[in-house]
Amino acid sequence: MDGNGRLTLGARWALWWGKARRYFYHSFYPAYIARGHARRRGECLRCGVCCRLGTRCSHLATDERGMSLCLRHAIRPRNCRVFPIDESDLAERDSVSPGTRCGFSFAPERLAECPKDAGAEGRAGP
Ligand code: SF4
Ligand code: SF4
Repeated sequence: MDGNGRLTLGARWALWWGKARRYFYHSFYPAYIARGHARRRGECLRCGVCCRLGTRCSHLATDERGMSLCLRHAIRPRNCRVFPIDESDLAERDSVSPGTRCGFSFAPERLAECPKDAGAEGRAGP
C-alpha cells in the first residue's frame, strides 16, 4: 500500500503538481531552495514517504532494519535531493501518510537566521 489509493483526485493532482514545482525550483529558481533549506531543521528519518508521492518509486527498497532505502541514492534525481523545500512539500507528504511525520520541519522565515542546513540536500531522502 503506497498511501495514494485513498486520496481524492485533487490531492493526487497536488502531488504531481508538487513534483513539477520542485523541478521548476531546482531548474530555474535555486535561490528559493537555498532559502527553504536555510529554514529547514531536523534530519531524514528514512520513512520513505517522499518516495511514494503520486506513485511508489521503483527504486524504493527496505533494509534489514525495516528502514526505507533508495537503491540509487548516490545518483538520485535532484527532485529527491532537495526534498523537502518548504511547508508545501511537507503538507503533500503528510497527505500520503497523515499518521507519521517527516523528520524535517521549517522555522518561520524571520527566525531562520542560522542557515545550518543550507546546502544539506545530500543528506535528504532515504
Ligand atoms: S525526507 Fe522526510 S518524508 Fe522523505 S524519507 Fe526523509 S523523513 Fe521521510
Ligand atoms: S530517493 Fe530514490 S527511492 Fe526515493 S523517489 Fe528518489 S530515486 Fe526513488
